[in-house]
Amino acid sequence: MDLRRPLLGLSSAELGQLMVELEQPAYRSKQIAGHIYQKFATDFEQMKDLPKELRVKLEAGFRVSPIQVSSHKKSTDGVEKLLVHNGDDQVYECVLLPYTDRVSCCLSTQVGCPMGCTFCATGMGGFDRNLTANEIVAQFHLLQSLSPRRISHIVFMGMGEPLLNLDAVLKSMEIFTGEIGLSYRHLTISTVGLVPQINILAEKNLPIHLALSLHSPLDEVRSKLMPVNQKWPVAVVMGAMKDYYRATKRKITIEYLLIDGVNDTPEESAELANLVKGIPTVVNIIPWNWVDTGQGFARPSRETVRRFKQDLKNRGVNVTERVERGHDIAAACGQLAGQHQGRFAKRRSLWEIPVTKT
Ligand code: SAH
Ligand code: SF4
Repeated sequence: MDLRRPLLGLSSAELGQLMVELEQPAYRSKQIAGHIYQKFATDFEQMKDLPKELRVKLEAGFRVSPIQVSSHKKSTDGVEKLLVHNGDDQVYECVLLPYTDRVSCCLSTQVGCPMGCTFCATGMGGFDRNLTANEIVAQFHLLQSLSPRRISHIVFMGMGEPLLNLDAVLKSMEIFTGEIGLSYRHLTISTVGLVPQINILAEKNLPIHLALSLHSPLDEVRSKLMPVNQKWPVAVVMGAMKDYYRATKRKITIEYLLIDGVNDTPEESAELANLVKGIPTVVNIIPWNWVDTGQGFARPSRETVRRFKQDLKNRGVNVTERVERGHDIAAACGQLAGQHQGRFAKRRSLWEIPVTKT
């Protein structure tokens, strides 16, 4: 296993500190930051403006990225999915999502996920560990090195629950904005709704998008789909989202995974409309993508999706539908981790996972 320290994830200030340790002039840190965060260099050989002696020194003790690619799939619609690891069997995934008007990417924040949502391939596989900030930044770096166009948007919607790894996610966002030049407005965190961390984000008041995976406004349905609802039920988590809006004035997103015959009733559209009343919200409908949950879940018909959307619209709700991509390579939402086949160590109970403090 390669134990050399990765540079991705270090800020210019931290690279500056490193140059002090290596007895190098301070401006070298700017040169290195330029190489890794602007030119997306993958090795020290490419950094021709550094003296050979320094390149050799760096090569011996450091590497640019910790990650290696284990599989690389390209979809017919331009989506590319990469399964990566750091030399062990803990694999995680990231996805490049080119659109006509922008290039986005979907990053993982954990190896597996401990939240145990019953409809999600990642959740069914169990949990190994949090990713570090450098592993999160390295996913972006890898995808950018493949993309001829600049990636401008990031969604933290790959494997894992970002708010269980908030420190690393915040650190990675500092690099994305401060070093790479992305706008906070183009970063989206999707969460199942960990209330203490939503409150921390509200205090931080960063101009990011916060999306709550709600999936049902009814506690009895949501608790069956998402164990987290037993800790923070609908009213509590929606209260936190409203506080988040009041603190940040950022429109909130509610993700609503539609599963046939499970959470698609008129009662649910009516209740959802009530819940979001008065708060600038967009409800994003996601037709469930098939994964083998063993529970007989099915994707809703076009007619069901149309009816549910129309019910919401009639009640004055701002609704969009997620255009799913990368189906042929299982890169669509919730299909990540399809290849892990139970490799993750074990599912820990949610309450055993320490909450990161920021
Ligand atoms: N853990 C976070 C972010 C990663 S999941 C969260 O759950 O919000 C990103 C989105 O994919 C979530 O809204 C999740 O509910 C959704 N998702 C999970 N399984 C899915 C599936 N089988 N089909 C479609 N979307 C799914
Ligand atoms: Fe984890 Fe999100 Fe999947 Fe739930 S939906 S198991 S929180 S990745």
